[in-house]
Amino acid sequence: MDNVVNRLIRYAKVHSESEYHGRETNPTDLREFDMAKLLVQELKDLGIENAFCDEHCYVYGWVEATPGCENLPAVGLVAHMDTSPDCTGKDVKPQVIHYEGGDILLNKEQNIVMEAAMYPELAKFVGQDLVCTDGTTLLGADDKAGIAIILQAVEEILAEGKPHGRICIAFTPDEEIGKGTDNFDVEGFGADFGFTVDGGDITDYEYETFNAAKANITITGLSIHPGFSKDVMRNALLIAMEYNGLLPPMETPVNTEGYEGFYHLLEMNGGVEKAVLTYIIRDHSMERFLERKAQMHKAAEMINRRYGEGTAVADVWDQYYNMYEKLKDHMEIVELAETAMKAAGIEKPTHSAIRGGTDGCMLTFKGLLCPNLPCASHNPHGRFEFSPVPSLETGVRTVKNVLSAELLEKIEFRKEK
Ligand SMILES: [Zn+2]
Repeated sequence: MDNVVNRLIRYAKVHSESEYHGRETNPTDLREFDMAKLLVQELKDLGIENAFCDEHCYVYGWVEATPGCENLPAVGLVAHMDTSPDCTGKDVKPQVIHYEGGDILLNKEQNIVMEAAMYPELAKFVGQDLVCTDGTTLLGADDKAGIAIILQAVEEILAEGKPHGRICIAFTPDEEIGKGTDNFDVEGFGADFGFTVDGGDITDYEYETFNAAKANITITGLSIHPGFSKDVMRNALLIAMEYNGLLPPMETPVNTEGYEGFYHLLEMNGGVEKAVLTYIIRDHSMERFLERKAQMHKAAEMINRRYGEGTAVADVWDQYYNMYEKLKDHMEIVELAETAMKAAGIEKPTHSAIRGGTDGCMLTFKGLLCPNLPCASHNPHGRFEFSPVPSLETGVRTVKNVLSAELLEKIEFRKEK
């Protein structure tokens, strides 16, 4: 029998960073196949002979229901194999450190220290073993801890021979750059509902995300020699600034938290003749999300009234939606997550509204309801990422519980097929 810590360490050492400006299709970097091939082999080693990796670098595998459990819902488990390009994932050297409190010396040679004052949540883990980096790379527990938890849970369930329904497993590429579900085969996957196992403190699960849109505002100006430009020039850059001035100044990421949405000016490019503003628009509430998108168009109309039709053109498109819009009619799936966490020893599971999205958003709107279970990655996307060992073990118990016949027998929900 393997264990979840060895698994995490083994997977963390595989360089599988995705690329913002990599290949157009999945995977954005071919090295992600290294991780995929390893996982297909490990699934086969567990006796899951049907495991395979497709040409887009998605790994799938299925465990059939135990006799008598064929009518239970088929539960999907999804984790992503790539790590964030924001911090290097090459030559990751994980180490297990017993945490006694205070600062943690990660790297003696380079004097890299994780300071307790900077990361107050460390206090929760005094007396525990932590899987850490050597301070020079990310750990990639986001989301390799998710993979480790899933495979460990499946190995244990198979070994224990306890009754379970059909288990559908998928590992995806390119989540970190927002392409994690582009080529996901929801139909072939065949789960009635699923869980992503990704990110976050092991006590916190998630089923609310932002609704998300992106917008390009193109401003067309009119250039003329500045010395002869009186009453003629229309400076696209100044008009772009005016456009931004028409949006509520306090509704930006730096001024908002919790359930407060925002407009975020992401990029601003141009000259006198032409300027383009790129925004992202976020809100948990669908109603306010629609209002925000309408506001982008209204501001463009206002500019056009001032400077002439066609001066500002707003191109707004949706990126993903709050999975709660779909899950609210099937809260038994969310309750299953919470019950499973409690049965794993978490006294009071919490759920926070994510100020972002997950692969589960896309999957939910592609027809696979998919809240998120935590995988105990702390300080993700950075050199101070770590994963507490007891949290990883709790994660394994949680996943075993969502697969158990005992809890699934109470779930009526079946996906329409
Ligand atoms: Zn992740």
